[in-house]
Amino acid sequence: MILNIDLENLINEHKNELIENIKNLIKYKSISVETEGNMPFGKENAKCLHEALNIANKYGFTTKNLDNYCGYAEIGKGDKIIGIATHLDVVPAGEGWETDPFCATIKDNKIYGRGTSDDKGAVVASMLALKIIKEMGITLNKRVRLIMGCAEETGSKCMQYYNEREEEFEIGFTPDGKFPCVFGEKGHIRARFKYTNPSSIININGGTIDNAVCDKCIVHIYNNTFNQKVLKDYLSENNIKFEIKNDNDICIIEVNGIAAHASTPYLGKNAIMYLMSGLKKAGCTDEFVSYYCDRFNFENDGNGFDLKCNDQYGNLTCVNGKVWMENKSIIGSIDIRVPITLNSEDIVNRLKVIDDKRATIQVMKYSDTTYFPIASNIVQKLLKVYQNITGDKENKPITTGGGTYAKSLKNCIAFGCKFPNKNNKIHEANEFVEIDELLLQVKLYVYAILELLNDK
Ligand SMILES: [Zn+2]
Repeated sequence: MILNIDLENLINEHKNELIENIKNLIKYKSISVETEGNMPFGKENAKCLHEALNIANKYGFTTKNLDNYCGYAEIGKGDKIIGIATHLDVVPAGEGWETDPFCATIKDNKIYGRGTSDDKGAVVASMLALKIIKEMGITLNKRVRLIMGCAEETGSKCMQYYNEREEEFEIGFTPDGKFPCVFGEKGHIRARFKYTNPSSIININGGTIDNAVCDKCIVHIYNNTFNQKVLKDYLSENNIKFEIKNDNDICIIEVNGIAAHASTPYLGKNAIMYLMSGLKKAGCTDEFVSYYCDRFNFENDGNGFDLKCNDQYGNLTCVNGKVWMENKSIIGSIDIRVPITLNSEDIVNRLKVIDDKRATIQVMKYSDTTYFPIASNIVQKLLKVYQNITGDKENKPITTGGGTYAKSLKNCIAFGCKFPNKNNKIHEANEFVEIDELLLQVKLYVYAILELLNDK
């Protein structure tokens, strides 16, 4: 596409404004917390949305606030919508920051702060892309709509609210994944098992969240039900850190593993799995131990639930992240990621019919896979834009076990905002965005929107 203007210069002229906008959004602690009343995800989240819509109003866009669930800004006229879906909510700051996570700080041409990369940076970059398209004076025969959601990090209820009330995109992207683009996202199933009346386990507590490999597990168990030496040898042989204390006839075992996101379990070491498998080796008589070892394994492939499957892009994964005790029952989380060309519902149905007298399975929630064939128009158009602008022909479109709004919105694919081989410390301490990359995002979004507006 040939443009008769110097887009690079035009974007650079807006650099200070872009930084000002990101500063204005970072200052809100927009961590989504479900709240009663007219601020469904909390006050800070609603204020942040208000601020973002204010910027859009100043730019002369049409705006709408959908009851503080989400909002959008729009330019152009027409029946169809080219969509961009971003989010304003962030994950908690956590420990280890060198700057104030809620005060955008510039150091070495980088902006530090929670949300600078995920996803407030993409919000302001997309907003500026719309403004620049407006300034270019192109007549738009479709509307270009920038959605800003308030609960992406906590299950995307905001997009459910959007879908119930608003039009779907003809086509669109969500800059909340990676460049060049994410052509497939695995389906996600959240389930639980419940095992009633274990015989020798008095208490068990492992993990902190459902969607991560368990990094620590503590069990209280009668010490005459297994061979302690065999357990100790097993854990040592596997380089697993542990501590065993004996208190009369009760043994307290603490096992430390390594946490990893549930979409990449092979990067972690599951503390519960090591503990259970060690107890089994040590001859533990509690039936729960054999139940656990029958159902879960170190491959995290779902084989124990008869779910093992794969496609050309990857395997199904099945991770137990958390276990705890409730009314004499052991309850545990099950996180399953379904290969992108398969169907989540089929897997859910297979899980539901498992007939096991030892434990019940309950499916809490599931989302479908998203899949755009590499040859599809959308993938090819976005890839062309990315390659033309960056010159990078090496990095190819990718798939992920994680999820974005592409799962919640029709005809929407993840494009940006993270560049290949870069670590912006997303969800970690000292999250940042490079100012040059933020400007590059603007350029990519401008061209992507123009490309998508083009019907050919
Ligand atoms: Zn995000």
